[in-house]
Order: sequence, then C-alpha cells, then structure tokens
Amino acid sequence: MDGDFRTEFVRDKVPLRQMPALVLNADYRPLSYYPLSLWAWQDAVKAVFLDRVDILAEYEQVVRSQHMEIRVPSVVVLRDYVKPRKRVAFTRFNLFLRDEFCCQYCGSHQDLTFDHVLPRKLGGITSWENVVAACAPCNLKKGSKTLREAGMKLRQQPFRPDAEKLRNLGRRFPPHHLHESWLDYLYWDTELEA
Ligand SMILES: [Zn+2]
Repeated sequence: MDGDFRTEFVRDKVPLRQMPALVLNADYRPLSYYPLSLWAWQDAVKAVFLDRVDILAEYEQVVRSQHMEIRVPSVVVLRDYVKPRKRVAFTRFNLFLRDEFCCQYCGSHQDLTFDHVLPRKLGGITSWENVVAACAPCNLKKGSKTLREAGMKLRQQPFRPDAEKLRNLGRRFPPHHLHESWLDYLYWDTELEA
C-alpha cells in the first residue's frame, strides 16, 4: 500500500478552525459531496474579491485588511456553472467509493487494499470490472487464486459506475463536522445528528 493512501481519505481535509466555506455550483448544489467541496477561508475570501463567487452565508468572525473588513463566508456559490464530468475517472478513491469503503469479500472496513478478481498472473486486467476493494486478510487469503480456487465470493459484481451513481454514494459519507449554515444546501442519505 502506498504511503499517501490513508491521508488521501481523511474526511475533513480543511479543519473547522480554518472556517471552511462550502462551495456550491451555480445551480446551488455542492460541487462535490465526497469529499465535500470546501475551501479554506483564505481561498473563499480571495474568490469573493475576484468576483468569482457570491456569499450565501457567513461566519461571525471578521477578517480585516488595511482598507476593509469582511465576515468570513461559510457558504459561497460560483457565478459560472462548472459542468460536472460525465465520465468517471478510474482512481483508487472512486473505486473505494464504488465499493463503499467495504471489503467486497467479508464486508470489513479495516485495512482496505485492492484485489484483482481474476489475478494478474492469469491475465486479469486493472479495470473497473476486475478490481475490488478487499481487506488485507482477504487479499492475503485470496492471493493469486481465482474466486473458485480460493472458495471466496464477491458481495457484488464489480462494475463501472457513472457520475450520478458515485455522487449518490458520496452522499452516504457526511463529514464529521457540518456547519449549520451548510445544511440547507446538503442532502445526505444518512440522518444528521442534531
Ligand atoms: Zn475482507
């Protein structure tokens, strides 16, 4: 497993004390759900001054420069609509998201790695249809055997997800901290804690 693997999946990339701004597309939907589209306050303030965004909600904190002061934005909306990509990139992140961060053999969420269903030694390729999330013990157990040889079963047939599917899956993973001003713009599949 690569060294940067875990940090890539840290949910709250922008700590709350940095007063992140939720970034909405011009249609008032989040640019992305998972990870949630957040900017550090410095970037949000800069975008305001560049007229790239409008402010929808603010923190109580004020930042001052020599000539002006501005309340830190907590929700901003882009003035220009950004077209979402239709084709989903085949990345580790997206693959884990497709598999809901869950070993496709035993359901564990721990120590996730990737497994080639048809082993590479037997000609298996690295594709949406042949790679699944697998925990380290299952990966070890399966080794370079076929499913039948290893006596293992997949929880679902691996598939190429479309952007809509991944977006919906992303909504199942709300970050740990949600500023109250964001809630009007977010729709999580799981229930929010009060
Ligand atoms: Zn497993």
